[in-house]
Amino acid sequence: MRVRLRPLRDWPLASRVMLLFLSLLLAIQAAAFFATQASLFDSARRSIADELDVGDRALQRLLGQSANRLAEASRVLSADFGFRQAVTSDDLATIQSALDNHSARIGASVAALLDTRFALRVASGTAGAGLQPAVAHLAAAAQRGMVGESLSIIEPIGTVPMQLVLVPLKTPLLTGWVLMGFSLDPWLARDLRSVSALDLAVRVRTHERAPWSLPISTAGEDLSADLLRLNASAAGAPRQATATLAGAEYGWRVLRLTERGMTTDGEVQALLLRSVDEAVRPYERLRWLFAAITVLGMLAFAIGGWFTTRRITRPMHWLLEATRRVGAGDYQTPMRGTGTADEIGQLAQAFEGMRQSVAQQQLDLRRQAYEDALTGLPNRLRFGQAVQEAIETRQRQTEGRASRLGLAVLVLNLDRFKHVNDVLGYAFGDRVLQAVAERLRQQLTTGDELARLGADEFALLLTTSDKAQALRRAQAIAASFDHTLQIDEQTIDLGAGIGIACWPEHAVAAESLLSRAEVAMRSAKKKTRGPQFYDSATDSTSTQTLSLLSELRRAVEANELRLFLQPKVAFCDGRLLGAEALLRWQHPQRGMVPPMDFIPFAEQTGFVRRLTLWVFEAAARTWRQLPAPDGEPLRISVNLSTHDLLDNELPERLLALLERHAVPATAFCLEITESAIMDDPQRAQGTLERLRAAGFKLSIDDFGTGYSSLAYLKRLPVDELKIDKSFVIGMERDADDAKIVRSTIDLAHNLGLTVVAEGVENAAIWNLLHRQGCDEGQGYHMSRPLPSAQFAAWAARWADHTATGWGGLELELCAAPQSVSA
Ligand code: C2E
Ligand code: CA
Ligand code: CA
Repeated sequence: MRVRLRPLRDWPLASRVMLLFLSLLLAIQAAAFFATQASLFDSARRSIADELDVGDRALQRLLGQSANRLAEASRVLSADFGFRQAVTSDDLATIQSALDNHSARIGASVAALLDTRFALRVASGTAGAGLQPAVAHLAAAAQRGMVGESLSIIEPIGTVPMQLVLVPLKTPLLTGWVLMGFSLDPWLARDLRSVSALDLAVRVRTHERAPWSLPISTAGEDLSADLLRLNASAAGAPRQATATLAGAEYGWRVLRLTERGMTTDGEVQALLLRSVDEAVRPYERLRWLFAAITVLGMLAFAIGGWFTTRRITRPMHWLLEATRRVGAGDYQTPMRGTGTADEIGQLAQAFEGMRQSVAQQQLDLRRQAYEDALTGLPNRLRFGQAVQEAIETRQRQTEGRASRLGLAVLVLNLDRFKHVNDVLGYAFGDRVLQAVAERLRQQLTTGDELARLGADEFALLLTTSDKAQALRRAQAIAASFDHTLQIDEQTIDLGAGIGIACWPEHAVAAESLLSRAEVAMRSAKKKTRGPQFYDSATDSTSTQTLSLLSELRRAVEANELRLFLQPKVAFCDGRLLGAEALLRWQHPQRGMVPPMDFIPFAEQTGFVRRLTLWVFEAAARTWRQLPAPDGEPLRISVNLSTHDLLDNELPERLLALLERHAVPATAFCLEITESAIMDDPQRAQGTLERLRAAGFKLSIDDFGTGYSSLAYLKRLPVDELKIDKSFVIGMERDADDAKIVRSTIDLAHNLGLTVVAEGVENAAIWNLLHRQGCDEGQGYHMSRPLPSAQFAAWAARWADHTATGWGGLELELCAAPQSVSA
């Protein structure tokens, strides 16, 4: 297996720092080690030189002392009376014994008596003929003039280095010479050893060309060969140096023991030796100590360094992790390592502060994105998510189980809220919304979600078991609006339309669930009969009706539109005054399609303008055929939409149309809803003024469903007010509705407007309105909208019946009606 090392720059920071410092430390230690080592060797060498000096002097002294002893012994012998007598009498035996005794006493290896001409007379010890060259040498020296009492030399006798001393024998005339000698071996080396640590080797050669022999050596056997070869005798060769002997370094010094020129050939050299290794050996321990300190130091450094770098790198790792976490969107986990006051701690604290502020900003952003600032409720976006999540949870919960728990989305839209804003101001309106939010909050149970979708629209997500439960909750919420709101001194009586869409019955996707609840809410507001479930039949946004638009274009071409007329009669005497033109679509497959199924579309796309012109044209065409009871032509009311009102050319278009059909503008009343005016009040007012000036009668349709105040409507150039049928239908059983109708009639009259009530469904309503002084009525009780062709027949029947008090209507004669001049 091949181990591949990562490149150094990829190593963790801690390892790199450690590596750097450890190598630096190692380098420093190594440098120190080698420097000490070098100076140790240096001083060892210097001390070797000193030791050699000392050894040199010691050797000289030892040799001097032994020469003295020899001389002393020789003098004692030559002063000995017996000996002198024996010499004089030539008693050889006595001489012999005296020589033996004396030499034995001082341990000399040689003792001899020479005659005056230096011929050997008697000798003791081992020396014999071998002494001859040395004796000759001594004789020569003595003849050159002897200094002092004795003469001493060192000479090789054979291969034995020998110290010889010559002392004259005087009786009193010179009668001979006493010679005594020590072999240098073994005492010299032993004595030298006792005063120094040096090794001694003595080299001997008999003449200059002879090979060296080594009679004395305290150094090891293995050095002998190298010692014999050592070049220390040539002229100019150093007396002292270092040499490698048998592989080890030695300091050495040579001493010539023979004096050159005094002997013919022989030579004795003493070599003083000192092993460098040995001299350094005492420092060995120091070296080990040094190595141990180095190792321990590095270990301590490594451990200390590891802890220190960890103190730095660990928080850095935490920081790294934290940055990664924040990068990945986790702002909640707190930063570690903020407890210390050092730089790292400060960094961690700074980072922690940053994390918290980012987390807060995120929170704020989320809040801004998901929360409605006014009420603090979730907004539409958040609500959509909540619905989505709830659906997913429900799907998981009901998976594989028979029991199906459901969800319900309630959308609630306040009634008459615009009115509150207009009359009491927007700031007050805001407080009303906050109060409504609070009221709705109180209705929540666990698991519910409340949101404000916009303006005066709220939504609730309920977890329910079935539709019935959803309806009960919705009714409870609706009932909570029965209590008036008290804000400052004002008492506000608010109502709300509530639409309900259930999952999974009405929609399976979150988005459509919400939009269907809104559709249901709109129909609830129209019907004013409490909370309504979603009903696809009334849904103008359902896919079934989406294809209608293109069909609608075709319908105009294919002449499938029909003009229906619904009569408007006077309350006082039941006289027919006019009719409202209502559009129908005779669909080839679907039969007679009511306007609520296609007009909202047409309004969304602007195609409604095309429809208005169609109705207007059809009405103009029909007008001449309409009956004119008592010679008074009827007036046809035509509905205008927002788009019509925003169309600057509408007055010209209508007038051109009237001219084509030769019909006066006074034959028409134009019905405009409050909301159409409110979309762009300024522009609407301009258009309305031009229409009024052209001779059209103007009517405010569906009054009460929008929020415009009468005070505002007063500024508009209108003649008539149509109370919305929801109030009219409700006035029979709802006291509030009755009140609204009554006050509307009074106020309208005060402003000089004619009041029309639509939705007169029965005689009771008729009679109520009649008593309240309402001017005109329109409703199923008199007639449903009729195909225009049937209108004349109806009018004839109606005239007959009014004369006889038809259907229990309270009738009386009233003031002359407004006339429509041709
Ligand atoms: P609208 O302008 O409020 O028309 C009156 C509606 O009340 C008519 O519904 C009429 O049939 C209905 N109605 C009359 N008397 C009674 C009654 O006693 N009880 C009840 N429950 N309803 C009564 P219709 O014809 O279905 O029209 C619905 C709406 O469609 C109209 O409301 C109007 O907004 C729109 N519309 C109809 N035709 C046209 C048109 O030609 N142009 C425009 N822009 N909108 C039209
Ligand atoms: Ca109308
Ligand atoms: Ca109406």
